[in-house]
Amino acid sequence: MTRLTLVRGDLTRQRADALVNAANSSLLGGGGVDGAVHRRGGPAILAECRALRASRYGRGLPTGRAVATTAGELDARWVIHTVGPVYGASDDGPALLASCYRESLRVADELGARTVAFPAISTGVYGWPMDDAARIATETVRNTPTGVEEVRFVLFDERAYEAFARQLAG
Ligand code: ADP
Repeated sequence: MTRLTLVRGDLTRQRADALVNAANSSLLGGGGVDGAVHRRGGPAILAECRALRASRYGRGLPTGRAVATTAGELDARWVIHTVGPVYGASDDGPALLASCYRESLRVADELGARTVAFPAISTGVYGWPMDDAARIATETVRNTPTGVEEVRFVLFDERAYEAFARQLAG
């Protein structure tokens, strides 16, 4: 059984086996969670991201996919980078957002991660409405078989926290 937990806070302050980054497909960093991960995690993460671009993801990491790197100076073993869909950009957006959670858990299982912390993917710059994103996130994690023991949603503000809390209660 996987425990789903909620905390309000900063993803980059979490201790977990793996922290999931809401990356963009370039893997070269950006704003929001991505910026915070690279700022606090230090240059080792970006160095691995660049190597991944050179070897496997020359065209960028596709939306809905996930890939792991070192966690650098973060209090974790790995960062799992996943690319959320931009809200409204295509009809398969909901499936792609679900895929971010599923693929991140698949990568976490490959690594042997027991605890994984997620931000609310796509709800920042990518514009996804919080309630719908929370529903997709929690339903997908609940319905994905995984050896991960704790999935922790790390919500940056009260509104996001409340949206996820309503989903877990329901
Ligand atoms: P996306 O591009 O996938 O929308 P963002 O990073 O812009 O990603 O935002 C995703 C969510 O993460 C938003 O709800 C935002 O408020 C939140 N967020 C931003 N910084 C952090 C952080 N350091 N820890 C946790 N959540 C964060």
